[in-house]
Amino acid sequence: MVQYKTDSDIQLIKESAQVLARTHAEVAKAIKPGVKTNKLDKIAEEYIRDHNGVPSFLNYHSFPASLCISVNDVVVHGFPSDYELKEGDVVSIDCGVLYKGFHSDSAYTYPLEGVKEDVLRLLDRTLESLYLGIAQAKAGNRIGDIGFAVQNFVEQFGYGVVRELVGHGVGRSLHEDPEVPNYGKRGKGPKIQPGMVFAIEPMINMGTKKVIQERDGWTIRTQDKRPSAHFEHMVAIYKDRTEILTTHEYLEESYSFKWRNKSR
Ligand code: MG
Ligand code: MG
Repeated sequence: MVQYKTDSDIQLIKESAQVLARTHAEVAKAIKPGVKTNKLDKIAEEYIRDHNGVPSFLNYHSFPASLCISVNDVVVHGFPSDYELKEGDVVSIDCGVLYKGFHSDSAYTYPLEGVKEDVLRLLDRTLESLYLGIAQAKAGNRIGDIGFAVQNFVEQFGYGVVRELVGHGVGRSLHEDPEVPNYGKRGKGPKIQPGMVFAIEPMINMGTKKVIQERDGWTIRTQDKRPSAHFEHMVAIYKDRTEILTTHEYLEESYSFKWRNKSR
């Protein structure tokens, strides 16, 4: 059942999303070759707690960390570890914050310097697909319009759209209805209504759409070991407009490798 949000709920979610955006920016400052991914997790947890938030992911169904850190062929839900990032990697950072009773959730995939051109294009196009999906997230449309926009755009490049994981409503719970798949048919699925707040999060593989889950019960990898990209925003639906509640602006300012549009 969808939990519709009031305007004051949405204000609180925006406050949560601000803490989240600043957390991402702190993490972004530290992303470079040689950094261990569990260092990034520590930075995020400290920043969130110092700003009166709680990491949404930590202990969620026993997830062991504040960030999901997913490198190269890991699609999502990777654990922070002793792994040191290296030139040519791509790393997805997914973070959630609970603040004043509401969760916020967003993700961004960073290329490290030395990344191959075709991988950079995958990131660029996955990010573009997120905004194409957001453009369809408006009152009166259907959830399938979002997935169709994402899928239709990325499949022209031969990429695979992950089926097993989807976007979702967000609010007092981290995962609420509706589910927001990154594939679908125009005009199908639940109607998008004012008061809905949900995350749109394309997970796009360079090769096959097929994924495998590791025995840790969390880590999702591409079956063909080719890289994957993941970007996520939350939106609020109003009668006559849609607002993006999360922002990648601060993290893009903080990240040293300016990669956007380089691949175009
Ligand atoms: Mg999410
Ligand atoms: Mg997320």
